[in-house]
Amino acid sequence: MYDIIIIGAGCAGLTAAIYAVRAGKTALVLECESIGGQISYSPKVENYPSIKEISGMEFSDNLFTQAIGLGADFELEHVEKIIDRGDDTFDVVTDTTTRQCKRVIIASGTKHRHLGIDTEEEYAGRGVSYCTICDGAFYRDRICAIVGGGSSALQGAELLSGICEKVYLIHRRTDFRGEAALAKRLETKANVEFMLPYTVSEIGGEKTVSYCILENRETGEKKRLEVDGVFISVGQVPQNEIFADLVELDEYGYIKAGEDCRTSHPGIFAAGDCRTKAVRQLTTAAADGSVAATAAVAEI
Ligand SMILES: Cc1cc2nc3c(=O)[nH]c(=O)nc-3n(C[C@H](O)[C@H](O)[C@H](O)COP(=O)(O)OP(=O)(O)OC[C@H]3O[C@@H](n4cnc5c(N)ncnc54)[C@H](O)[C@@H]3O)c2cc1C
Repeated sequence: MYDIIIIGAGCAGLTAAIYAVRAGKTALVLECESIGGQISYSPKVENYPSIKEISGMEFSDNLFTQAIGLGADFELEHVEKIIDRGDDTFDVVTDTTTRQCKRVIIASGTKHRHLGIDTEEEYAGRGVSYCTICDGAFYRDRICAIVGGGSSALQGAELLSGICEKVYLIHRRTDFRGEAALAKRLETKANVEFMLPYTVSEIGGEKTVSYCILENRETGEKKRLEVDGVFISVGQVPQNEIFADLVELDEYGYIKAGEDCRTSHPGIFAAGDCRTKAVRQLTTAAADGSVAATAAVAEI
């Protein structure tokens, strides 16, 4: 039986693993996609204290290597359910097997939000992408649009501007939610054109994307852009439905847990972007990982 099972190998989950094993407990991290979580999709991280600049992939690799090096176990499995066994232990059921543990830390993060327009799913992988760092290179010297106004979209636009002939940055407001410094940098790029305040109403093409239709939010005017790719970067949504029978979720689907990372269910903790909080960043995910693991360790 593991002392602690951690669901998710993002910044929160891997930090929790580091704190758990360093406290002398056994810890297993379960991850259903790839190590590092969301940050591995970021081309550049510039706001993590003490690291001036690092790629998201390198940040993830370092964190993973550190956690495993200290003794945490890792399995690539999708967690499907947590069962309270009623004796102060839990079953964590995955797509492969069921394991027992004394405490559970949910660090399931968030996933990409979709725009929700009809053809979005149809063209996914055929010109519609949610990840500039994964797919940007396919669009060398091509014309692309990126949709969104947060820091992720701005970072994505900056990455694409170094690859593509032209980049349209489409945002539904006239100001950006993302970091002002990033927006300012983009203003200086000759191949980046801001399309504000527009929404995307249609994405189309023959076999792959060749155009998108925009609608001006103030005037209703429609505009057709000839593009080879549309990158969608409109935020994240939680993926906590599978835990809803045990822990309380808020109206947006985030796990209700405060700064102590305790959920409504004794013995189950929530860390990182998956829980209710104001700031979803690496710093706060790492903080949660340490808080949740320390609290879990104290109960074992
Ligand atoms: C493009 C982009 C750029 C960003 N740039 C920055 C930045 O520059 N600086 C910054 O501080 N923050 C940045 N962020 C935000 C930062 O990445 C997140 O705040 C942070 O990654 C949250 O970590 P987490 O561990 O809570 O969740 P996540 O990173 O989302 O990790 C959760 C993990 O859990 C896994 N998982 C989910 N459900 C299950 C399940 N049922 N079974 C098994 N595994 C599961 C997921 O696959 C995922 O790997 C960026 C985010 C994005 C998307």
